[in-house]
Amino acid sequence: MPVKEGKMFIRALFDYDPNEDKAIPCKEAGLAFRKGDILQIMSQDDATWWQAKHEGDANPRAGLIPSKHFQERRFALRRPEVQIQPLKISNRKSYAECAGHNSGSYLAGFRRSFRLSRKDKKTNKSMYECKKSDQYDTADIPTYEEVAKYRRQPNDKYRLVVLVGPVGVGLNELKRKLLISDTQHYGVTVPHTTRPRRSQESDGVEYIFISKHLFETDVQNNKFIEYGEYKNNYYGTSLDSVRSVLAKNKVCLLDVQPHTVKHLRTYEFKPFVIFIKPPSLDRLRETRKNAKIISSKDDKGTAKPFTEEDFHEMIKSAHVMESQYGHLFDKVIVNDDLTTAYSELKTTFDRLETETFWVPVSWLH
Ligand code: 5GP
Repeated sequence: MPVKEGKMFIRALFDYDPNEDKAIPCKEAGLAFRKGDILQIMSQDDATWWQAKHEGDANPRAGLIPSKHFQERRFALRRPEVQIQPLKISNRKSYAECAGHNSGSYLAGFRRSFRLSRKDKKTNKSMYECKKSDQYDTADIPTYEEVAKYRRQPNDKYRLVVLVGPVGVGLNELKRKLLISDTQHYGVTVPHTTRPRRSQESDGVEYIFISKHLFETDVQNNKFIEYGEYKNNYYGTSLDSVRSVLAKNKVCLLDVQPHTVKHLRTYEFKPFVIFIKPPSLDRLRETRKNAKIISSKDDKGTAKPFTEEDFHEMIKSAHVMESQYGHLFDKVIVNDDLTTAYSELKTTFDRLETETFWVPVSWLH
């Protein structure tokens, strides 16, 4: 990150409490923050401890926060899958200097490839498997990201809106309500498939029908945001299908697995990510007692009444999503009561089109 003291803003991607930090030179001088807070950097003179304030805080006094390098190094050390060579500290350099010096060895690169492989026995669908190398880069260690203010101008394309949430949380229902509220304004992508077209279907409406060979080539060329296999056919959502919705000057609503979000975070899409979260277990029981879920265990995708197991699964899955990808969520909406959640969603969309938001600086150039 470049040093622009007082002019640089960052979004914190983790929670920090100086009282629990054994390394901080003086706990009282520390600045506590939560994931998602915007901080103004006042000084980066020290490689290990930066000085920062909460954005908009009138108090001129800055507090200490761990520097990006230092925090990345600490997070990396906590990860069991990362093999880190012990640092050979021959002369007494600061911890952060050593981390920087060593960066070529273990922070060298990140290779993650998705491939169709492991079959889910229950659904016969292929799952996405992450092939992870034992090396990864700092982009995979969420600490801070430099941000700047962005306000959509009348001639700008709409930002891509990504909806994320566990199965059964009501994400599809919310998306459907938005779509029918204004079909001219909101749009969804048309997926690709390699299965044969059914008589009542039209190419480009339900699906874009393509050959297996072309699908596989497109996968190789990273043209898909996500894809899967079902009954020996491939299905997937392409980047071009998002582009074609945006080119019609519509807001594109996309629901994907949260691991795909980081690939969509580009200048072109400027995604706004909304996490639809389930309410408490008791509220799930109360609000969903007469509702049905499209069963993921049922090959035909039949709707069935929710079971206790579905509720527990939903809460567990939401928890995993939030802890692993929460730093990528711009907004969290709890879908307790559908009408209230929908109105919160609608307000968020209205704000998105008129108000100023903090986005990664790289999205502005
Ligand atoms: P059908 O062939 O009956 O239209 O759909 C079969 C299955 O393909 C459905 O269970 C549906 O969820 C899945 N499917 C449809 N579109 C996509 C897509 O874009 N990506 C993935 N991964 N699966 C899809």
